Amino acid sequence: MKTYNIDTNGYYGEFGGAYIPEILYQAVEKLRNNYLTILESKDFQKEFHQLLHDYVGRPSPLYFARRMSEKYGCRLYLKREDLNHTGAHKINNAIGQILLAKKMGCKRIIAETGAGQHGVAAATVCALMNMPCRVYMGATDVERQHVNVERMKMLGAEVYAVHSGNKTLKDATNEAIRDWCSHPDDTFYIIGSTVGPHPYPDLVARLQSIISKEIKQQLLEKEGRDYPDYLMACIGGGSNAAGTIYHYIDDLRVKLFLGEAGGHGIESGETAATIHCGKIGIIHGFRTLVMQDEDGQVTEPYSISAGLDYPGIGPLHAHLAQERRATVMAINDDEALRAAFELTRTEGIIPALESAHALGMLPKMRFQPDDVVVLTVSGRGDKDLDTYLKYKDDPQINSF
Ligand SMILES: *Cc1c(COP(=O)(O)O)cnc(C)c1O
Repeated sequence: MKTYNIDTNGYYGEFGGAYIPEILYQAVEKLRNNYLTILESKDFQKEFHQLLHDYVGRPSPLYFARRMSEKYGCRLYLKREDLNHTGAHKINNAIGQILLAKKMGCKRIIAETGAGQHGVAAATVCALMNMPCRVYMGATDVERQHVNVERMKMLGAEVYAVHSGNKTLKDATNEAIRDWCSHPDDTFYIIGSTVGPHPYPDLVARLQSIISKEIKQQLLEKEGRDYPDYLMACIGGGSNAAGTIYHYIDDLRVKLFLGEAGGHGIESGETAATIHCGKIGIIHGFRTLVMQDEDGQVTEPYSISAGLDYPGIGPLHAHLAQERRATVMAINDDEALRAAFELTRTEGIIPALESAHALGMLPKMRFQPDDVVVLTVSGRGDKDLDTYLKYKDDPQINSF
């Protein structure tokens, strides 16, 4: 049977692999040789699932959104990752990776962050496990996501503001990789999305796959069948989407819709819509679609959403798009903002700006009335309130 999943060499079709400097070879090789054995061990499974249950608060609810369903003419369920401890799906992955780091004998943790949700998740698990933590964050993001910066500091992490490039996620990741190259022996790099050299994309997808495992059980209870007609999620690097689709990836009854950040529009030059605008290249240790100019220089991405402001995309998602297994839409800033106000005023749920890019696909869909749709709300919007309130009185954005 055809599978869309990773092959034994760490590729999804032509995307993925490990393109790393010599100095990191041993660290990446050690991870590659150990991750599956550790993840599948009884010990790991027990500790991981106990923490997901008692600490994160899983399973996260699958909520039937009645008013939104009426509006869009389908049966819309929201997978509520916004209700997790620390406010997003990132904590699932951070817990898994810190357990892995401990089992591999690493003493120091580094992480990169965009919106700050992965930084907060990493800082949280480091407090929990008593490990030193340094988080790299672009200086632009330090400003636009200051609440998360304060949270990381409170948790005892060192937040390192990065001033290169346009001072966002790409630049923070460059700096984290530089740190890793200087301390390859004792440092574990907790990557926050399905990106980076193999085995990270597969590792992160597996740790986030708890999302679709729960969706299966919850749909069976609520709908009497364990699969939806549609799965919808936003994609930055692709981890919440990977978790949402993991157990359905080869089930062709389920249509996959992914929302990437259009910024000011895919023709505007100010966009982070990598699948629409990218060409094949190498970034941060893996081969994928990359936004680049004619000389192959990575171009600066733009999105109102710090968590989606990245010029690459996970290799899984590049593959799903190329094979037309998934439909990818570019959702612009204004469409995402409108969707955030709509969910807030229709269901009383303030989504993260990132998640609003998944919601922003709804007005472009054509459903049948009994279609079962599951849309993942990857995080909550507390961190984005300053941005939202700027648009509250703009009738183009908030018609409520
Ligand atoms: C980080 C983040 C994203 C984007 O990352 P993915 O790896 O694509 O999931 C989306 N939503 C929220 C709330 C985030 O914090």
